[in-house]
Amino acid sequence: MKSIMVDMDDCITEGGYLYLINQYFKTNHKKEETSDFYMYDFIPDKEGFFNYFINNNLYDYSNLIPNTIEVLKYLNEKYKVYIGTAYIYNVIPELSGKIALYKHNYLIEKLPFIDPHNFIFINDKELLNCDIKIDDKIENLKNAKIKILFSAYHNKNLTKDFLQKNGIIRANNWLEIKDILDKLEEECE
Ligand SMILES: [Mg+2]
Repeated sequence: MKSIMVDMDDCITEGGYLYLINQYFKTNHKKEETSDFYMYDFIPDKEGFFNYFINNNLYDYSNLIPNTIEVLKYLNEKYKVYIGTAYIYNVIPELSGKIALYKHNYLIEKLPFIDPHNFIFINDKELLNCDIKIDDKIENLKNAKIKILFSAYHNKNLTKDFLQKNGIIRANNWLEIKDILDKLEEECE
C-alpha cells in the first residue's frame, strides 16, 4: 500500500490564523491581499499578537476545506494516510506545545477515521519517506514521488512552468486531488 502525507493547515483546514489576526488588530484583512505564508504584513506587533494567539485555539475559528472529509475517507481505504504538520511558530517556539495539542484535538474530532498513530508533528517534512505528499508549501513536497501542491494565497503566483520543472502538480481542491490520484493509479495498472 502506498503512503500519503497530507498537510493540515491550508489543506485540511483554514481561516483561524487570519481570524485571530483580524480580531487582535481590529482589521478586516483577506487572505487574497497577501502572498506571505505567515501573513507578517498583517502583523505590525508580532510579540503582542503571538502572545494573544497562543492563548486562543485557532482551530475554534477554522473551517474545514470543502470535500476534505469525503476524499480523505476515500483515500484512507486505498493508501496509508499520514497527517504531517508543523506546530512550532517561529516567534514563539517555546510556547508552541499548545499548538500541538490544538492540532491533535482537531484531528481527533474532525478526522476520526484516521489512526492517531498516523499524526506526525514535524517541521522538516523532507525526513518523511511518503510516496505521495500533499502540501501548500513546495519545500514540504521534497522526497515524494508524487508531489501535489494545494493552491493557497501564498503559492498562487508560482507559475505552471516552475511547477512543471520541479515535478509538482497543482491542485485547487480535494476533488482535483482525487482525480489526479485516480488517474495516476489507472496509468500504473
Ligand atoms: Mg500548510
